Amino acid sequence: MNISKSGQIIIKGISGSPGICIGKAYIVDREGVNITKRYPVSDAMVPKEIDRFKQAVSKAKNDHAKVIESLDKDLGENLNILETHMVLFKDKMLYGKTIETISNEKINAEWALRKVSRKVKSMFQQIDDIYLQARVIDIVQVSDKIMAYLVGAQDIKISDINKRVIIVAHDLSPADASQIQLERIKGFITDRGGKDSHTSIIAKSLRIPSVLGLGFATASVKNDDILIVDGSSGTLIVNPDEDTLFDYEARMAKFEEYRAGLERDSHLPAITKDGIFLNLMANIELVEEVVAVKDYGAIGIGLFRTEFLYLDLKRFPTEDELLCKYKEIVEFMSPQSVTIRTLDINGDKVNPYLTTIEEINPALGLRAVRFCLANEEIFITQLKAIFRVAAFGNIKLLIPMISCVEEIIQVKQIMNKAILELEHEDKIFNGDIPLGVMIEVPSAVMIAEHLADHVDFFSIGTNDMIQYSMAIDRSNSLVAHLYKALNPAILKMIKMTYDAAKKKGIDLVMCGEMAGDPMNIPVLVGMGLTDFSMNSASIPVVKRMIRDLDTKKARKSVEKIMSLNCVQEISDFILEEYKDILPFGEKGE
Ligand code: PEP
Ligand code: MG
Repeated sequence: MNISKSGQIIIKGISGSPGICIGKAYIVDREGVNITKRYPVSDAMVPKEIDRFKQAVSKAKNDHAKVIESLDKDLGENLNILETHMVLFKDKMLYGKTIETISNEKINAEWALRKVSRKVKSMFQQIDDIYLQARVIDIVQVSDKIMAYLVGAQDIKISDINKRVIIVAHDLSPADASQIQLERIKGFITDRGGKDSHTSIIAKSLRIPSVLGLGFATASVKNDDILIVDGSSGTLIVNPDEDTLFDYEARMAKFEEYRAGLERDSHLPAITKDGIFLNLMANIELVEEVVAVKDYGAIGIGLFRTEFLYLDLKRFPTEDELLCKYKEIVEFMSPQSVTIRTLDINGDKVNPYLTTIEEINPALGLRAVRFCLANEEIFITQLKAIFRVAAFGNIKLLIPMISCVEEIIQVKQIMNKAILELEHEDKIFNGDIPLGVMIEVPSAVMIAEHLADHVDFFSIGTNDMIQYSMAIDRSNSLVAHLYKALNPAILKMIKMTYDAAKKKGIDLVMCGEMAGDPMNIPVLVGMGLTDFSMNSASIPVVKRMIRDLDTKKARKSVEKIMSLNCVQEISDFILEEYKDILPFGEKGE
């Protein structure tokens, strides 16, 4: 942190998404619910604590009743879940026990509620029945709602912010970031977060500048402070002096001009200087992003991260709701293809209603396909919606986080069940669509040839490949300096995956953020990759790089690069060899 005489503070963080914005700070406190234990509470206070608890229950229950009233009565199973919650507010196990604990143990209401709900959770987790285990979701949700009233903490509603501001938060989950309204929010900064975290991916799709991993920087920002967010270099400036402000206003204008220039050419095809055509597709998280996909000249959607539709809700969507959303995208993109990836939740993408069990190591836990295989009904609902939408367009099905052959065999069995159900229900669908797996876990790289026997294509997910092979939590700013796509280990894994796909004659696409950085393009194209899917905002700059690239030179470069032994040597080599064509403007220079 650098503080000047004028009071200007400069803090370095991690680039979350490129670009520069200048505006007023708007602090969003997401530190969560800070619960303290008060013990012993006096005899006179016990009835007051019980009363406080009862009032919180009644407010939370009233709120919940309003939610139910406002819902469509055709929600079937989901409505049943919400109605179950109404009963749980006064359930003996939660309500009765909390009151008993306050009075027997003489502790405050919050602490008693936390104690009881944890006990209930662990009891359910020991039951050897997935359905009953899943009921723990209900307990968690109900107790969270009561807790919010007890501590006076309400969910932040980013979608409700109605000023042109820069959000300042300790942390923003990917679900929070996906609520950002472009016309209101100029950019955001967070203390937490790492490179290629899902929060940074959302910021890139929204094309708003962000700086993450600022440590405790947000503590030194007050509401309405003037901020400069330089997302390209990962710098935050608080209360800039006149000269700095002037300098950054000029840089901002230059960056916008540069970006507009790239975007003007974006409709041109991605053909290298020596005439090789490459396929550039887009990654999307939300239905609203499809317009940008076309604007930036993508030839299809190579990764649709479907989990954001779930994260934005407070309950599981129905098959018809999913179909309706998928159809909007598929019809808009038709005849171009859309690769729909099945639910990849948990890890850093959580929502209390989705989380069945508190995991110590969520990134290594019941994430993605593992969650789906453990929750067959939820998986079948999604597969049915995907097969139904496949009757209307060119769809591919992609399964995330596969780590062994057994998983893909199980997935296929469940796909068959979904197809049988659709046949039985006499619905229009197409179950005969290409099936692919994400190659993003090191074990999948090692067994890629075996996996290839079961699927039609691979999609390399470098974001998780880096996270899992180098043991770097992608959301953790403390280890972000190690998170490097050009690490020789990562390049070898990509090469192994490419070789396995080629040997087995299946298609290969790369959809991780690595593909969206022009610096990585010579090595990827030189290795032989031809299909890429990326954040649509990266397409213009990557196309510019491709149009200036010679594939013969790239192939030669790869021979050299594969003999180098560290990131520094590799990036120095690329910077030197390609200095004439690397588009540096994204870095704000
Ligand atoms: C990846 O891991 O590279 C990927 C594309 O998936 P996600 O970022 O959604 O984990
Ligand atoms: Mg991934």
